[in-house]
Amino acid sequence: MKRIIYIPFDHLHRGFGALKEADPKNDLILFVESARMLGGRPWHKERLFFLLSSARHFAKALKDEGFTVEYIKAATTVEGLDAGVKKHKNRSIICAEPSSFRQYEALKNYGVEFVENDFFLTPRGLFSHWAGEQKNFLMENFYRAQRIRLDILVSGNKPTGGSWNFDKENRLPPPKNYVGPAYLEHKRDEIDKEVAKELDYAATTTWATTRKGALAQLKNFIDNHFAEFGPLEDAMTTENWAMHHSLLSPYLNNGLLHPSEVVAAALKAFEQGGIPIESAEGFIRQIIGWREYVHGMYWYLGPDYRNENQLGANRKLLPLFTDASATQMNCIKSTISDIDARSWVHHIPRLMLLSNLALITGTNPQAFLDWMREVFIDATEWVMVPNVIGMGVHADGGAMMTKPYAAGGAYISRMSNYCKGCRYNPKLRIGENACPFTTLYWDFLDRHKESFATNHRMSQQLFGLKRLSDLPELKERAREVLEGLEKGEI
Ligand code: SF4
Repeated sequence: MKRIIYIPFDHLHRGFGALKEADPKNDLILFVESARMLGGRPWHKERLFFLLSSARHFAKALKDEGFTVEYIKAATTVEGLDAGVKKHKNRSIICAEPSSFRQYEALKNYGVEFVENDFFLTPRGLFSHWAGEQKNFLMENFYRAQRIRLDILVSGNKPTGGSWNFDKENRLPPPKNYVGPAYLEHKRDEIDKEVAKELDYAATTTWATTRKGALAQLKNFIDNHFAEFGPLEDAMTTENWAMHHSLLSPYLNNGLLHPSEVVAAALKAFEQGGIPIESAEGFIRQIIGWREYVHGMYWYLGPDYRNENQLGANRKLLPLFTDASATQMNCIKSTISDIDARSWVHHIPRLMLLSNLALITGTNPQAFLDWMREVFIDATEWVMVPNVIGMGVHADGGAMMTKPYAAGGAYISRMSNYCKGCRYNPKLRIGENACPFTTLYWDFLDRHKESFATNHRMSQQLFGLKRLSDLPELKERAREVLEGLEKGEI
């Protein structure tokens, strides 16, 4: 039977998904570039550039291999499928299981047949089975089970290096006057230029748009960054936007790299020596633990999970999220400028600056989630829904994380050099120079003290709140800060 193989823009790998056993003699490959995907929301243009150019390069590689490829531009994905099906009659249409609930429904209703989505190391059914047996969904428990199941950094059931994680070693602040290795640049070719022109956008050279470029990025990480990744993985500095982060998430999430390839390269380097266990473990945990866990939770928690708002947070998105000039907070201004420049910042600015700010200002979780989806290059639906709703803004009442990731300026001051250049003082919680994070952290705890009263992991923070002698002044300052943030003046 001759087939049409539909390739969504996050299934760009020849060895996985519906292409695994594809044959140029029988199979026609269909890509759909939908206008809704491009124009439906205010997407960061770097993100659109990356997704479109990667897909067009991948389509070309399949053509070069001998496949007949249809690359259709249409108003919606379904209209594009329709056009492909009408042109190539009497073929079944198949696809690997899509990566969002909405796309899954749309394709199923259209009659697309699914093959298993194997772009992850954990089949969806296996994760559901694990989750169904848990009293709570602790990532650490899932991760340890993954280490044993996949036989990675273990001998028997014992962890390599004597510990399952090395978090304590991996919390160093940025070194002073830090200068890291040069960033890898990716030259732009004709396809890149064509996409950039269509988008009316001057694309950076930060992100690869081909399999070859993605593999070069993997090699660059292993050779130049892996050894130092762990200890500095939470550090933030204005002197280096990437530190030793791998910059691989865009390729893992659009399929140009498969997690098994990344893990194999990391393990090979570790076994050859020169990579400390805290870096090896810290990196492997992101790939086989956190990434797989978040994907599994997306499917396990269901489509309604994205609408959770259990803290009743209803503030509109603050202007500083879309305009770096709308704040005087150095950490936020710098982070938003970095996002504007290349559609990426690492996990700590995302969690401890952006999400923390959304959490303690009581910003509406769905408004914040939409913004996060729009601005980050790697922000697929399955990544962002659990990361934002569960971890970032604790909107699920603790279903995923046992406590909210709320923090004041002291944490940011310890882990970055932002505060040195800031007009606010991270140590102050009241007065004009008080750090907004510090003021709003205590205000947040006070607003929600009843809901957190039974959470033993919050008892220390609530004890600290009770000891504040200046709570009335702090509440007054918090009101001013929130008003100032809404006006873009803080
Ligand atoms: Fe951010 Fe507060 Fe530090 Fe300023 S003082 S950089 S607002 S944490």
